[in-house]
Amino acid sequence: MNHAKYAPSAAERWSLCPGSVRLAARIPEQPPAPWAVEGTHAHALLQLCLDERETDAYFYEGLTLDTATEPWKVDREHCASVQVCLDFVYGLLERADGQLYVERYLPVPQTVVPGDDVGGTADICVYFPSSRQLHVIDFKHGEGVVVEIRDNKQVRMYALAALQEFPDPIDEIVLTIVQPRAYHPFSTVRSETVTPRQLVEFQGDVEAWITACEAADAPLIAGEVQCRFCPAKAFCPALEARALELFGKRTFPEAIETVLPQPAEMSAERIATILDAWDIFEGWFKAIQKYATEQIAAGGQIPGWKLVRAQERRKWAGEPQDIAEKFVQLTDCDLDDIYPRTLVGIVAAEKMVKARAQLNVAKEFKKQAIAKGLEAMAELTVKESSGNAVLVSEDDPRPPLSPAELFAAVKVPRLTS
Ligand code: SF4
Repeated sequence: MNHAKYAPSAAERWSLCPGSVRLAARIPEQPPAPWAVEGTHAHALLQLCLDERETDAYFYEGLTLDTATEPWKVDREHCASVQVCLDFVYGLLERADGQLYVERYLPVPQTVVPGDDVGGTADICVYFPSSRQLHVIDFKHGEGVVVEIRDNKQVRMYALAALQEFPDPIDEIVLTIVQPRAYHPFSTVRSETVTPRQLVEFQGDVEAWITACEAADAPLIAGEVQCRFCPAKAFCPALEARALELFGKRTFPEAIETVLPQPAEMSAERIATILDAWDIFEGWFKAIQKYATEQIAAGGQIPGWKLVRAQERRKWAGEPQDIAEKFVQLTDCDLDDIYPRTLVGIVAAEKMVKARAQLNVAKEFKKQAIAKGLEAMAELTVKESSGNAVLVSEDDPRPPLSPAELFAAVKVPRLTS
């Protein structure tokens, strides 16, 4: 898929790092990352369901779809994720006059660069003429990074574009992110309402960001948010400079000296700075590793590095039931010892409940029957955390552990200043 030079989906990057547009343009097109392929698959399934007005994503489980990347067989995990978005959208459409628009390309109004340079495809828009209300909905299949709706630049750009594209009058715009697989304390569906006036003001921000990017000396500004998905990570001098600065130049001299400071020798402030940069460097190291692998695979050389065959691991050779029976003959053990019965996962069980609940039920009552089945199943499940304390940035939406919870969960020496 070709993205515009200023795609809303990359707005967090180019708005914070103006030089990234020029640097990223020099990077050859890369094959999409596995998480991006999964997202493409989920969006293809969502689009199919909405185009066909199908309320049950599981209806397509097992079907092979032609997606933008490759033919893909619809699996349960994608069905479960898409179903959350479908439930939200069809819930909206229960209001009689809702007009649905799916995967609509929207050029974003601005006056700095040619029109084709700024725009993107909004997943879903729903317009209600009676209340002059427009909903702009962005579906996120990813689970790694929680995306907030508040001041979300991507969704606001779609809304700004929609404001111009829809000929009908609009009094308010409800922006929504549906992100079923990432934990958020409020909800997997998060919304905020904005007015057309706010969006027109936002157009000024967009124009200022693009103007900064178009400047001949547009600076590279490294940071956690903008660098996370930047395609130029492996080549970026600003990111490298930040690493050198953070760890101390003596860490990366020509003759490699691998003396990194011990955590106990560092101040709490320095530890915080290094933790803040964790995501950036992790991504940067991975990008360099991937680039080096590709270079050597293509016949290039990275001094001191080579490619080898992955470690061999033993695995069962054959069908599990067949192997288990042969194993019983071999050792005279109980079948359950070698092939124990285990419960299927909760997502798989939900699928079974849904399939069962719909049997011999008319289409208009299916949703009700499924809800009833899931409600009964909910009594068989509990929500439970491992209880371990997890270190996250202050921006994470989960509340911090209380002192009593901290005492129970972790026992470590306190930092001294
Ligand atoms: S890696 Fe970070 S600093 Fe470098 S171009 Fe990308 S966003 Fe900018």
